[in-house]
Amino acid sequence: MSIDEIIAILESAEKEDLNPHSGKLFAYVYETGDENIRKVAQEALVRFAEKNLLDFTVFRSAVFFEKEVVGFAKKLMHGNDGVVGSYTFGGTESIMLAVKAARDYYRKREGKAEVPEILAPITIHPAFCKAAHYLGLKVVRLPVEETKADVNAFSEAISDKTALVAISAPNWPYGTVDPVEDIAEIARDKNVLVHVDACLGGFILPFFEMLGEKVPVFDFRVEGVTSISLDAHKYGYAPKGSSVVLFRNPELKKCSMYVDVSSPGYVFVNQAVLSSRPEGPLAAAFAVVKYLGMDGYKELASKVLSARNKIYHGMKKLGFESVGKVESSVLSLYSDADLLGFVNNMKKLGWQLHLQKGLKDYSIPDNIHLTLSPVHDSVADSFLRDAEKAIEMKAEVDSKQIYAMAEKGEFAELIRGIEDGRIDSSVIPMLLESIPEEIAVELIKNVVIEWFK
Ligand SMILES: *Cc1c(COP(=O)(O)O)cnc(C)c1O
Repeated sequence: MSIDEIIAILESAEKEDLNPHSGKLFAYVYETGDENIRKVAQEALVRFAEKNLLDFTVFRSAVFFEKEVVGFAKKLMHGNDGVVGSYTFGGTESIMLAVKAARDYYRKREGKAEVPEILAPITIHPAFCKAAHYLGLKVVRLPVEETKADVNAFSEAISDKTALVAISAPNWPYGTVDPVEDIAEIARDKNVLVHVDACLGGFILPFFEMLGEKVPVFDFRVEGVTSISLDAHKYGYAPKGSSVVLFRNPELKKCSMYVDVSSPGYVFVNQAVLSSRPEGPLAAAFAVVKYLGMDGYKELASKVLSARNKIYHGMKKLGFESVGKVESSVLSLYSDADLLGFVNNMKKLGWQLHLQKGLKDYSIPDNIHLTLSPVHDSVADSFLRDAEKAIEMKAEVDSKQIYAMAEKGEFAELIRGIEDGRIDSSVIPMLLESIPEEIAVELIKNVVIEWFK
């Protein structure tokens, strides 16, 4: 094929994609609305696209970029000289490394459990379950109180089987910050490692603090915190493929690494999960961090704050309330309206919202999740106008119909609805009361297999 033909195919392939710059998506993309950020990131991304992070002795620029990006993250998290870190391709990878470090550290310290445990609140990101699944650990899910990790539950559950305590700043579903100081103190008394998942908050909460917002302390200023993950590809505004994991000391980082000298090929030294990777995303993260600097990030954080406040107060007027304390860049809102119908109607008006199922045990109602980006400051008014419309519009499919479908076992019909966009895909977790979890998991795997056949 010719270049022109291929470009034509690329153009047609992206026709059905949502526009990541539109400000109509919440989560997934972290849009600033600043063209220059995109320009400088793409310059770096393309320039280093064909260099490989496999071996840090070959492309020396990689060592320089990594030091700079990790150094910036370390500064944000108030790390002292002992703190070291690694650049990874995403939050999941950062978490995987923190979990591996905890497992190997636990073994080194003569930890006895065959299956070491990670204690985490139910709000913890699924990446910890994935890491535990891959690495042979078990996640013990503990209750929350007003959407935050319940300190007493941690104090009761911690034992000589515990390899890691994992908490969030903030958690993804509700945007609330776990009581890091209290839980870290309990863990420190027992000599247990504590990971703070700041994938979402790491690049924004420090700036909220500078702007005078009340932010609970969650970083290395808290003595018992031993590792932190923070995503440059979220509020760092770098292109996807950028995260950092920080460790309290080099010994922990060593536990996160994999080294093999048995191959007749080459000395295999991996400080991340993947080996060969493009250098582009790392160079781009470096470029964005340098372009913005502390002041640039602070200014963008003030836009996020403004967007959050506008949307929160506007939605309150429409009858919505917040599930948890509003203390980050995330809103989780509930109301008496049929939320599934609301989300579907908003979709028709071009907005991509996310539905979250409630948790009866914790008196948390079904709710909608909004991760705010700087761009939302300029679209907040039109969002609120459409939200008002969406409440009044009749829904093509409402929650009652969906629950009835699930109860009757009409899964194929449901999946068709999801595929053709009539039904929002976040509906599946909402059906877990009518469908057992294993069936839901199989159902989703079936859809995926169909899609990729
Ligand atoms: C985004 C996120 C992660 C990791 O996600 P990736 O998609 O792998 O970057 C982990 N924890 C929280 C709280 C997050 O928001």
